[in-house]
Amino acid sequence: MDDVVRVRFAPSPTGHLHVGNVRTALFNWLLARRFGGTFIVRLEDTDAARSTRESERTIIEDLEWMGLRWDEGIETGGDHGPYRQSERLHIYRAHAVELMARGHAYRCFCLPEELEMDRYAALRDRRPPKYVGRCRDIPPEQARRRVEDGASSTIRFRIPSDREVVFNDVVRGEVRFSTEVLGDPILVRSDGSPAYNFAVVIDDALMRISHVIRGEDHLSNTPRQVLLYEAFGWTPPAFAHVSLVLGPDQSPLSKRHGATSVTEFRSQGYLPEALTNYLALIGWSPGEGHELLPLDELARRFQLEDVGHSAGVFDVEKLAWVNRHYLKLAEPERLVQLSIPFLRAKGWVLDPDVAALDFLASVVPLATASVDRLDQVPARLSFLFDYSATRALQVPATLAEAEAASVVIAALADVLAGSRPLIDRDAFRAAVAQVRERTGLKGKSLLHPIRLALTGEGEGLELDLAVPAIERGAALVGGGLVLMASAAARAAAFHQALGELGA
Ligand code: GLU
Repeated sequence: MDDVVRVRFAPSPTGHLHVGNVRTALFNWLLARRFGGTFIVRLEDTDAARSTRESERTIIEDLEWMGLRWDEGIETGGDHGPYRQSERLHIYRAHAVELMARGHAYRCFCLPEELEMDRYAALRDRRPPKYVGRCRDIPPEQARRRVEDGASSTIRFRIPSDREVVFNDVVRGEVRFSTEVLGDPILVRSDGSPAYNFAVVIDDALMRISHVIRGEDHLSNTPRQVLLYEAFGWTPPAFAHVSLVLGPDQSPLSKRHGATSVTEFRSQGYLPEALTNYLALIGWSPGEGHELLPLDELARRFQLEDVGHSAGVFDVEKLAWVNRHYLKLAEPERLVQLSIPFLRAKGWVLDPDVAALDFLASVVPLATASVDRLDQVPARLSFLFDYSATRALQVPATLAEAEAASVVIAALADVLAGSRPLIDRDAFRAAVAQVRERTGLKGKSLLHPIRLALTGEGEGLELDLAVPAIERGAALVGGGLVLMASAAARAAAFHQALGELGA
């Protein structure tokens, strides 16, 4: 691999970026970075009916979010553009003309109905449904006249008969196909648009692509592409067909299995470095015990030859494990910024000022320490922003020890009414000690009612972290956060609600 590495990712902008696809992009990116090569992003947008600018935007944003910058391509530009197939139609046309002139391609005038009949007959006779070759031998002069007379036509590639196409796939080893199973494929459709197999070869050749790394669903296209390189007299690139990403039931990962697109994983609050790191581990390993590595380190270790050819199962548990690792490494300020949209969706955070941001920086990491994803942060912080004494009373098992609990609550409300805010662990512990003294209760009988009264929850964060956080929150007035009740106000409200319940 001493030659210059030039690789490309060529998505069709017809929807969201699937994680299987982005894993392919990642392998391309890693190879380029490993060898100081060039990573190109171009778009296969000749399917005008299904390609949208919106999908293009999402793909670009998702790749950028994943940290997979490209050196050449859409938006970035470069010497081998344009990078949208819809802007390269003249290039494909010229090459189709060249192939026809050299006898490697011909006009086909078959009507869709005729092709459908052929297909039907082939299926009936249990033959492979390939093009029967009806127009293969129409003399070029006659074909030209029919075109001039306005007949609709496609351009087909003349697949040489009786040949075995052999290529060495970096991931799968030697691959052989007999041309007997290949019908002459359409290169240019009757509306002038190029077919995938044709455009991709022209693009890869003119963009001087050294390695074509793509999903194995394209493996059966490759012999046609190899023959096209041959027809043009071009040397084909190296091919590497990577396995598909499967769901737990071994079928290709799809909506049925849950989230599939980068956009979805992003909106669930996975960190980009976690998703890239995890995707790199499907079918490849940077080394035993070295799975958690940043992108540049993955690139340093990447070997295309080591990518396995067996399909990889998408394991959400493992992704969560990787995400937890990166959540622990992330700076509090970053976690705050990334969590704000989730908190805003709850209506708890509007436009936080500096004091509010400081407060969030002190509480968000308490939540992220125990979540798999950032969309779980609000549930961990609802004790701050969404306290309700009456709801607290509905927490299952609340009144298991009703009598003892009401004694504790009465004492707690009284102690807190006369105390200063419990702004740190010591202040909180001193207040608990007073309640213990007054009630003679300890352990769970003491702490469970206190937890319920102050946080509204039956379980959660350690109280000597949670309660000072409540007090800090209650001290903020406005500042872009929903108002939070102090510990004393919560104890009083809970006490009252309990009394009303008993009444
Ligand atoms: N647009 C094709 C795809 O997304 C590209 C295939 C290729 O890389 O050759 O599958």
